[in-house]
Amino acid sequence: MQQRKAFQVKDGVLIGAKQIPSPNFNQRPEHTEIQLIVIHNISLPPSQFGGGYIEQFFQNQLDWSAHPYFQTIEGMQVSAHLLILRSGKVLQFVNFNDRAWHAGRSSYLGKKECNDYSIGIELEGSDDLAFEATQYEALVQVTACLQHHYDKIQQHIAGHSDIAPGRKTDPGPFFNWTEFRTALQHYKNT
Ligand SMILES: [Zn+2]
Repeated sequence: MQQRKAFQVKDGVLIGAKQIPSPNFNQRPEHTEIQLIVIHNISLPPSQFGGGYIEQFFQNQLDWSAHPYFQTIEGMQVSAHLLILRSGKVLQFVNFNDRAWHAGRSSYLGKKECNDYSIGIELEGSDDLAFEATQYEALVQVTACLQHHYDKIQQHIAGHSDIAPGRKTDPGPFFNWTEFRTALQHYKNT
């Protein structure tokens, strides 16, 4: 039961997550209820972990000249509500009540513009490497907490590749949906 209190939502803030405010957000459309979780992966540079570059990127503070890859994303203004680092540490960049900029052109069950009504969770990772067990643990705890707080979410959990097929590939083939869903169910049952 103690584990269950690892995270808590209050006024759109995930208590238990480190707060790193991003300027990249705006208002959700009026009367929009949160009803979807979108799972992503990101690493900067690709497939390299640590370094704090994702945090800098989401804060518009990345030094574009620090790596050749950064020049390919220069000037992009993006964000996600949450980032789960390789250590399992959870960072929050955007209040859940606000609209983060993670999904882009997208559609879920025929409903367009997923940013309007979703919560975006980035896992520090890539399409060609396995995720860490601690990341699944944190994702399970956070997801259960969000499902409890935002009851419209229910089982509406999608990958970026599901809502933007042909355009996006993350969270990629190494994200184990079965393991995740099984662990989530188990966590909620205990
Ligand atoms: Zn993505």
